[in-house]
Parts: sequence; C-alpha cells; structure tokens
Amino acid sequence: MDHFLYRNGSLHAEEVPLSDIAATVGTPFYCYSAATLERHYRLFTEALTPLPHLVCFAIKSLSNLAVLKLLGDLGAGMDVVSAGEYLRARAAGVPGDRIVFSGVGKTREEMRIALEGGIRQFNVESEPEMRALSEVASSMGLRAPIAVRVNPDVDARTHEKIATGKKENKFGIPIERASEVYAEAAALPGLEVMGIDVHIGSQLTELEPFEQAYLKVAELTGRLRAEGHEIRRLDLGGGLGIPYTRSNEAPPLPTDYGALIKRTVGHLGCEIEIEPGRLISGNSGVLVSRVIYVKNGEGRDFLILDAAMNDLVRPSMYGAHHDIVPLAEAAPGTESQPYDVVGPVCETGDTFAKARALPPMAEGDLVAFRSAGAYGAVMASEYNSRPLVPEVLVRGDHFAVIRARPTFDEMLGRDSIPEWL
Ligand SMILES: *Cc1c(COP(=O)(O)O)cnc(C)c1O
Repeated sequence: MDHFLYRNGSLHAEEVPLSDIAATVGTPFYCYSAATLERHYRLFTEALTPLPHLVCFAIKSLSNLAVLKLLGDLGAGMDVVSAGEYLRARAAGVPGDRIVFSGVGKTREEMRIALEGGIRQFNVESEPEMRALSEVASSMGLRAPIAVRVNPDVDARTHEKIATGKKENKFGIPIERASEVYAEAAALPGLEVMGIDVHIGSQLTELEPFEQAYLKVAELTGRLRAEGHEIRRLDLGGGLGIPYTRSNEAPPLPTDYGALIKRTVGHLGCEIEIEPGRLISGNSGVLVSRVIYVKNGEGRDFLILDAAMNDLVRPSMYGAHHDIVPLAEAAPGTESQPYDVVGPVCETGDTFAKARALPPMAEGDLVAFRSAGAYGAVMASEYNSRPLVPEVLVRGDHFAVIRARPTFDEMLGRDSIPEWL
C-alpha cells in the first residue's frame, strides 16, 4: 500500500496534487511520501516484535538526508556500504551504534572513518578484509565489532544481477569454511566477534530461499557457540521484494517474513538485525515526467518523455517494469492505446516500456512512474549532461524540495580546464 492515489481525477502524493509540485519544481522529479516510508518501517519493526531487533534501512536504495532523518527519528538503524553512506547516516543524526557497515570492498580509509565516528558492527566478507580491519582498529587502540557475512549457497530466484547468496557470487565466505574463519577472527587482536551476517539477494518474491538461508544460519549459530564463540546478533540482510505491477505479483508481506524469522532463528536468544531497502523505499516514491513529443513511428507511437535512463536506469539495466500512469486520471471508458515510452538519451536502451497501454496522450501531459523510490534517484547520473533529477518529500498537505535541481552553471562548474590548454 502507498499514498499515491487519484483524488478528484488528479494523482496525489498524500494530500498534494503531483501536478502542483510539477508546476513549482519543473519536471522530471522524484517525489516521496513520508507516510508510506513510515508505514513500511513500522511494518518491519512490528513484525519482529517481541524479539530484540534493529531494522537497519539499506541506505543504498534511497539515500537522501531528509529520508534518513525521517527514518532515523523513528528509531531505525542504517545499513551502509561506503564511507559516503556512513557519513550520510551520521549527517542525518543517526548515532554510530545504530549503523551497520556492509560491503565486499571496504578500504582502510573507510574503516577508519567509521571507527572514528562510532559503529555498531562491520559485516566482514573475507579474510583479507578481516585482517585489514583488525590492523586499522588496533592502530587506533580499538576493537572493531564484527559479524562475518556467510554465503549460504542458496538460490534467491531473483534477477541474476541482484542475486548474492550463491557460491559463485562475490559475496561473503562459504558457510562450510565458517569455523576456520571465526577461529581466525577470534584470534585477531583488533576484532570483537558479535554475530553472523547473511544477505542472499534483492527483490525476492518468495520466502523459501530466506527460510533455507536462515535455517543454515541457525545451525551455524549452534556450531560456532559449541566452538566457543559468543554469537549475540544475527544480521539477516534485506531483499524482500515489492509488487512492481498492481495486478499479478504478490510478494510475501513483512508479517509473514517476521513469522519466518521467529520460526527459524527466534529461539536462539540473539538480537536480530534486518537490512530492508526496497520494501521501505520502493513504493514510497514516484518519478514524475512530462511528455515532450508524441511521435508516430512505423506501426508504433513513441511517447518521448523528459525523463531518461540517466534519471531512472532500472528498465535499461535490469529490464525492470515500472507502472506508468497519467497524472490526470483517464475518464471511465477511455480506450487505451499502446505506446513505446522512451527518454531523449541517444541510446536505444533508453526505453522505459514497449507497447505500454495508456490512455491517449498529448504533448505536455504529465506521467508518473510508480515504485520508483528504491534504486531510482540513487542510481541517477548526468549522462548526456542532463542535470541530476531533483527530489521532493511530501507529508500530509505540504511538500519540500529535499534536493534541488542543479543549474547548468553548477553542473559545468564542477569541471576545470587546466591552464596549459
Ligand atoms: C542491497 C543490500 C540490502 C538491501 O536490499 P533490498 O533488496 O533493497 O532490501 C541489504 N543488505 C545488503 C548487504 C545489501 O547489499
């Protein structure tokens, strides 16, 4: 459920007509609903109650400071994968003891920044990384709290680019080697072992792969404890999928996911961490765009928008589907027609949808891409020298620009021409 609904024939974000925002901010822009973000966060924390737990929002899905502040103020932790994300969480007021640092290639510099600022836990993914972290922490007179990310060799049955829990993926250490790796971690002077971490992929639409992975983690917890390790925390990753179409997909609900966690690892007396990104942010955002031209092609009509693959890359990168809806609701009984919906970028890959059924559209009409809150703005670029797309946050009947559209001068001003040219 989200808060993007038609009222009086016009698509609203909560109580604000998106066309009003378009008139003020220009197009394209991302718009997020505070009520939807809050609701999704609460669903997870309610699903895990009464287990001791921390819901760490995966910042990489949507990293605007205003969104992080909103979630952080509700008590959310943050899952970060770079020093930049760590500093974003801190700038949004999230204390270090609610920040988990994931990622397969943390540099020593990134480790230092997080240790200096305070960190709940590093999820380490390899022995060389473990040794580096121990060195960095020791040199600062500290011990770094860690969980080791294990790769459970489970097929997440999702898009190949976002599956992370098979043994051929680059993530984590093979679960069979865990005893050996934990023994080394326990012996390293700069580390303190806190628990186990697992994350098997993104946009999972079934619970079964989670179940397989979490059962393996439960079994491993027993084994490591028998070997003398104190396993206090289990970080179970993110990855729960969302419906990208209104009709046929029905991914599991956070309540079912919570019940699965209780069933598989709830008896172990561990504090549970989860790292959802997409399920919190995905349906909390839309990308609004204007039709520049309607072009009649050979046997097809093209809807040429002012948004492009640089603003929302998921369709060209993953072949992802986003529902596209007009901001002005079509009158009942209006006949749809197929359009190829494209952006202005000079690549055939800059295609959002083929033969998409829409009511008849005209130059100047506004459309919204639904479910664009996750992996939308964060993956945007300035390809084709198109200034970064701005972001807007709505709460109730008011909205604020939470990232302004850069001017052309700002964009050009970041380059410099050496004096010897
Ligand atoms: C990407 C990622 C997440 C979030 O995944 P979602 O599918 O957005 O929930 C969580 N944890 C780690 C380690 C990740 O890499």
